Amino acid sequence: MKTPFITKEKAQEIIKTYPTPFHIYDEKGIRENARKLIKAFSWNKGYREYFAVKATPTPAILKILKEEGCGVDCSSYTELMMSEKCGFTGDDIMFSSNVTPAEDFEYARKLDAIVNLDDITHIEFLEKHGGIPETICCRFNPGGLFSISNDIMDNPGEAKYGMTRPQMSEAFKALKAKGVKHFGIHAFLASNTVGNEYYPALARILFELAVELKKETGVHIKFINLSGGIGVPYLPDGKPADIERIGKEVHWVYDEVFGPENMTDVAIFTELGRYMLAPYGHLVSTVLHLKHTHKEYVGLDACAANLMRPAMYGSYHHITVLGKENEICTHVYDVTGGLCENNDKFAINRSLPPVEIGDIVAIHDTGAHGFAMGYNYNGKLRSAELMLKEDGSVEMIRRAETADDYFATLIW
Ligand SMILES: *Cc1c(COP(=O)(O)O)cnc(C)c1O
Repeated sequence: MKTPFITKEKAQEIIKTYPTPFHIYDEKGIRENARKLIKAFSWNKGYREYFAVKATPTPAILKILKEEGCGVDCSSYTELMMSEKCGFTGDDIMFSSNVTPAEDFEYARKLDAIVNLDDITHIEFLEKHGGIPETICCRFNPGGLFSISNDIMDNPGEAKYGMTRPQMSEAFKALKAKGVKHFGIHAFLASNTVGNEYYPALARILFELAVELKKETGVHIKFINLSGGIGVPYLPDGKPADIERIGKEVHWVYDEVFGPENMTDVAIFTELGRYMLAPYGHLVSTVLHLKHTHKEYVGLDACAANLMRPAMYGSYHHITVLGKENEICTHVYDVTGGLCENNDKFAINRSLPPVEIGDIVAIHDTGAHGFAMGYNYNGKLRSAELMLKEDGSVEMIRRAETADDYFATLIW
């Protein structure tokens, strides 16, 4: 069972000031989770989490994570701008972009961010646009299928990211010749992984690659960036990742591979997005209409423009009808938004208690890749974002868009 972090009473109180739909985040949950993660990797002296800004690009969120000791992982000019404004500088920032424009590299270099190169041709491009830094990271893509104990996790061979194994050697040699002193290695081989095996398996691949590259090119390996990919249980009976165990298993692999090589100064970095935020956000919405045709429909005041994942990937997001948490799910509904797009459904054939017009629903696990993927199709406006603070008060951290915002870029 999934329990929302707000009650019906709390939602009704909030709605008096901030009408639905809105995304709301749980500060307490975010902080506690960040502390657990950092503790799980505290065995590694240089460990740092670089929160993937794209998951939840909202200053109030970035500031909380900064207070917890996190850096940021950026992929675009505006993500860099937001990070700079929130006080992140230098090696607080990882710049992990692909198909990177010149001005993005120039800006990242100006901020002295750590640049993670996605391709070997970017060496020359970066040299022209910003210059080659002393510390640099290269993104690895082993190709083929990525499996853990016979389970296919993902398909790196079809992924646009990263360099091949021979390109990694070539890139390290070329960068060393251009004066780079410290190297990092990055890979993102599977997304939203369940279970605890992904990081330890990825760590082994990258640690062994680090040993090889060090021997082959004589460079100093400064860090291994395990990137994102730890999943969250979207399903109500799913099990959350055991971060303590993941940290421990990465530690074992670290000692096994780096111990004999005298490489125990290598720092571990992560760039988690979903794991850091998804469970600590709800999209709160009001039931506008009930429709009874060939199926039973619940029509919400939120739509796929507020949360795209179900429409885009068919993702499951649990829905709680607030105040009916303990009622039996006797009805089956499609829960929809109002876009003129039949994929605008938050849930299909979902068992819920009997729903009435005016009910408030909490859609779970929207804290990452939720608001962030919002768009303006059908002229729908982006919602507000609110923070449920540790003292129980609620603060608006982004106002809702107005029609003026929507029209602001138009030329009549
Ligand atoms: C998206 C992304 C992440 C975060 O991924 P999650 O699945 O949210 O953990 C981290 N690093 C890079 C480079 C990414 O593109």
